[in-house]
Amino acid sequence: MADALFVAGIAAGAAAVGAVAGTATARATSRKRVARMQATIIAAQGSLEANERSSAEERLVRDTVLDSMEEGVLLLDPTGRRVFANAALRRHLGTVPESVDALLPLDLQRAAKQAATSRSITRTEADTGAPPRWLRATAIPVDDEGSVLLVVRDVTEARRLDAVRRDFVANASHELKTPAASIRAAAETLRHGALDDPPAARRFTEQLEREAMRLSRIVSDLLDLSRLESGSDLAERVRLDIVAADELERLEDMAREAGLAIELHTEGVPSIAGSGRDLALLVRNLIDNAVRYTPSGGRVDVSVSAEDGQVVLEVADTGLGIPQRDLARVFERFYRVDRARSRETGGTGLGLSIVRHVAGNHGGEVTVRSELSAGSTFVVRLPVAEAARTDAPSPDAPSADAP
Ligand code: ADP
Repeated sequence: MADALFVAGIAAGAAAVGAVAGTATARATSRKRVARMQATIIAAQGSLEANERSSAEERLVRDTVLDSMEEGVLLLDPTGRRVFANAALRRHLGTVPESVDALLPLDLQRAAKQAATSRSITRTEADTGAPPRWLRATAIPVDDEGSVLLVVRDVTEARRLDAVRRDFVANASHELKTPAASIRAAAETLRHGALDDPPAARRFTEQLEREAMRLSRIVSDLLDLSRLESGSDLAERVRLDIVAADELERLEDMAREAGLAIELHTEGVPSIAGSGRDLALLVRNLIDNAVRYTPSGGRVDVSVSAEDGQVVLEVADTGLGIPQRDLARVFERFYRVDRARSRETGGTGLGLSIVRHVAGNHGGEVTVRSELSAGSTFVVRLPVAEAARTDAPSPDAPSADAP
């Protein structure tokens, strides 16, 4: 603004010189002088405008960078007054304080004041708002006078994930501890005499075998889960109807032994870009659950169809059903509606979590509807890769109702 006023002043002065010149020579000399002055003014104006432009550009770059940051930034002068705050600060605090005394939560205020007096970096965490969000703040002294830069980050999600991880480790340890303790007890009983009592020895070795199998199922599911957490390799073209037919064949005997009718209904479906191994795991877990949670005399129907650029897998049973209040939670790791039944039938509490991960890794989703004592239907929708939409049905696998 001061620069602009200065240029306007020189221009007005030059115009005035041109107007008062008297004689012809004087007028010619004066015209030259005016022309030179005008050239100088235009050059000066140009350079001032360029300077203004570049400092405006710098301001724009600075503001864009600071406003697009996740971290809230607050710069306080040595008296504690606000010099600068970015947009994220308002998002995190709900307001932009005029001074350090108006800074809330109080822990942040204390950190800023301590950094100003101690001239050392001060860190703190505090919760704010409802539902509470966790803020992590770092107060950094920026000069020797007591100016402070406060950087505020929202760490609510990081803290939630930490809690999930801690819970998971605790749950997994507990799940592993139970069969391990049972194996130890059986081995000790055998060593202390049961070996000489054949019927007891048989019972305890069966217990050893059962618990060892349970341990190995839990470990195997945990390994699958941890592999799936880093994604699935989607390099193959997979026909879900063929995968379903294979898996159904594997589980057919188990279903018939449990007194269930089981059937697959398929139409020619396009292939999807995915992992055959992981999709087989998904189908296996759903059919396995349907068989385990359906009493004798019931039925399990598996269908694979194509719908709106998606391949849809449905596994429906006429079994126990899931109470409404548990429906949203059955996909969580180790969540079981009926712990005893799950254990009795060889469950680990990880099957549906695996299913959800596989569906997610393939860009799809799994949902469930269920009615107590009437049955459950799990539906998996997976998008068909653009290039694969044209290849249904493929000649190598005719559409069929199998088996
Ligand atoms: P689990 O190994 O215990 O079966 P899952 O993760 O596969 O673990 O399933 C979680 C829980 O959801 C099960 O313990 C069971 O209570 C319930 N569930 C899963 N599938 C069915 C089903 N088809 N019918 C009734 N309940 C089911």
